[in-house]
Amino acid sequence: MKKYLLPVIMLAIFETVAITLWLTMDNLFYLLNFSYIGISIALGIFLFLRKYKHARRVTQLLVGLYMFFYLGVMCRENMQIEGFWYYLFTGVFEAATIHYAVAKIFGPLIFGRGWCGYACWTAMVLDFLPYKVPMQPRKKIGWIRYFTFALSLIFVASLFLAHLGNMEKIMFRAFLMGNLLYYAIGIGLAFLFKDNRAFCKYICPVTVFLKPMSYFSLLRVTCDTGKCISCGKCKRVCPMNVDVTDHSRKRKNGTECILCFECVKNCSKDAL
Ligand code: SF4
Ligand code: SF4
Ligand code: SF4
Repeated sequence: MKKYLLPVIMLAIFETVAITLWLTMDNLFYLLNFSYIGISIALGIFLFLRKYKHARRVTQLLVGLYMFFYLGVMCRENMQIEGFWYYLFTGVFEAATIHYAVAKIFGPLIFGRGWCGYACWTAMVLDFLPYKVPMQPRKKIGWIRYFTFALSLIFVASLFLAHLGNMEKIMFRAFLMGNLLYYAIGIGLAFLFKDNRAFCKYICPVTVFLKPMSYFSLLRVTCDTGKCISCGKCKRVCPMNVDVTDHSRKRKNGTECILCFECVKNCSKDAL
């Protein structure tokens, strides 16, 4: 039973967030929202421990579809980074702000870039593409993320400076258009670079938050050097080009790890 401790811990963390927000904000939505996400994540980890091949994808689809269709399309909440800036500017502590605080700013201190592996609705689609393992060496164009990050901020600031009316409607349209753009660029880059996760590596503005915070992540894949035979399989199957055999936090592409556990599944020596 000890091996099932991890899903229980994850569920407990999310339930703590759910109950705390429910009581402090006096809003039942937070209890249901974070409980649903916690159960989906715990289920994914449980299935992984039961060696179900598509365990991560189950969680990714459960959370990603819920976020995109329910929160984004049905509740008309801009869950993109533009929505985060928007609600921050208006001073409204809404779902998008809380979502960013939990999943992308403070949460990564505990679960690193788990968001990218198990919840993101952009990657949920990109992971269906044929290049699960990158077929080309990594490009040195990661600086683009700072550009898109600044662009998202400038876009929202311009809307406020222009004193436009009906901002909620504009932000909803920006959410739909932004997602279409992300999917188009993400799919195009995946085929161009033969790498499903090219968008995550070079373009995604959210990584400006995710990368530095996940450097300190409590949850991380480590290597038992006593068992490792340096076969290199883990590095070959990693979608994010992480040198997981290096134990240090400064390991190559360390802040790129999305906790997909492909390396762990493929290590024949159980060194990870
Ligand atoms: S890097 Fe961006 S697009 Fe990729 S999974 Fe993470 S949040 Fe989603
Ligand atoms: S797959 Fe396992 S044994 Fe091979 S290099 Fe990676 S950690 Fe070491
Ligand atoms: S394969 Fe391993 S090192 Fe690479 S992203 Fe997945 S969990 Fe992280």
